[in-house]
Amino acid sequence: MMTKEQYIESLRKMNLKVYLMGELVDNPVDHPMILPSMNSVAMTYELAEKPEYRELMTATSNLTGKTINRFCHLHQSTDDLVKKVKMQRLLGQKTAACFQRCVGMDAFNAIYSTTYEIDKKHGTEYHKRFTDYLKFVQENDLTVDGAMTDPKGDRGLSPSKQADADLYLRIVKVLPEGIVVRGAKAHQTGAVNSHEHLIMPTIAMKEEDADYAVAFAVPSDADGVVMIYGRQSCDTRKMEPGADIDLGNARFGGHEALVIFNDVFVPNERIFMCREYDFAGMMVERFAGYHRQSYGGCKVGVGDVLIGASALAADYNGAAKASHIKDKLIEMTHLNETLYACGIACSAEGESMPAGNYIVNLLLANVCKQNITRMPYEIARLAEDIAGGLMVTMPSEQDFRSSEVGPYIEKYLVGVAGVSTENRMRILRLIENITLGTAAVGYRTESMHGAGSPQAQRVMIARQGDIEGKKLLAKEIARINEGQNG
Ligand code: SF4
Ligand code: FE
Repeated sequence: MMTKEQYIESLRKMNLKVYLMGELVDNPVDHPMILPSMNSVAMTYELAEKPEYRELMTATSNLTGKTINRFCHLHQSTDDLVKKVKMQRLLGQKTAACFQRCVGMDAFNAIYSTTYEIDKKHGTEYHKRFTDYLKFVQENDLTVDGAMTDPKGDRGLSPSKQADADLYLRIVKVLPEGIVVRGAKAHQTGAVNSHEHLIMPTIAMKEEDADYAVAFAVPSDADGVVMIYGRQSCDTRKMEPGADIDLGNARFGGHEALVIFNDVFVPNERIFMCREYDFAGMMVERFAGYHRQSYGGCKVGVGDVLIGASALAADYNGAAKASHIKDKLIEMTHLNETLYACGIACSAEGESMPAGNYIVNLLLANVCKQNITRMPYEIARLAEDIAGGLMVTMPSEQDFRSSEVGPYIEKYLVGVAGVSTENRMRILRLIENITLGTAAVGYRTESMHGAGSPQAQRVMIARQGDIEGKKLLAKEIARINEGQNG
């Protein structure tokens, strides 16, 4: 496994093409706006080195028998699925941000099982290719961007019916030694901090969309790959000289990017689906299922930090003993643990697939993510309630450091005796960061849209909910015999 330092160095050696605010970034690893997000991924390496976290952070590879980082693992049991969620909660607690590496892990598990089933039906050799690829990933302990979401253009039209044929990523040329692909993947979590991009289709497809049914892997610095870094609320605070208090979370963050594939060549050994449109839906459903489970871990860990910050804000205000504050903290905890319960439940109810790795219970994973589209919003609302308006009206760190006006801030923004004004500012800025700032991308809007928007889960809940089976239960209890009674 790589150490944190080796990970950072390995990224530095890559020749990534990253644009940020209109400019080509010289070295993303050293850019102040990107660095905190890289620190979050680095934490997945750092914790794996620590004996106290080994049980959660590492696993034994079923492919090589070696100890690997759990982020590169194929889940071999429901216990593995549960440990995955616990690991994600831990990392959410340690970073209070999106640590990005889960998308690759979720893609590995979805592609491994789907390629097995494609080969069974079509006599192809994708599963062996993917197994070899994953061994390479495990051996080198790589971070991989599991990429699913296409830009999608007119949502009312299928991929092949779009005005611009590139609005879904597609195969533009098939050569004896590989394929050439063109298109883009949007909202790519951790793209700039990843060694590889692992691409999947984004929806179920019909025969006319066969050119869009493609899965493959390329290095992040492959010829023709261009990344455009996503903006976040308050992101340029990170560019302010010496910024610290105002960042709320100076060390960690997350990011998304728009990743362009300009006629990128993919050699045969890295192609894992090539026009088998009948399996696009299966791959999507499995990846989405795993990633909806993931949110029952990561968002809960960030929620833990937000609840702790809210409790501290109340302590520092002198409001901690008020019964309504206590009750709000209880409500936040109740909501957060409900999310965790969903993450654990869909894991404990997982099942093995024909390829041998385990899948979550899809109904429960979709219920988990549906709750995630709601409860973090309520938790954030309560955090803002407890924090008070100062969270968004407080003067800047520069004013606090100023010899002229700093003493006023020190004097008038103080809370209870024994707590410095600076500490009070720090905790309020952390709440701001998670609810409204850079981390709000991950805690709020990503809770809504990441791993699929709410309606996508409702479609799956409808499909998995077995209403007909439930009708039979009701008929049995009500002693209905439709044959007799019409
Ligand atoms: Fe992992 Fe959560 Fe970020 Fe998805 S949103 S990559 S599950 S930390
Ligand atoms: Fe996400």
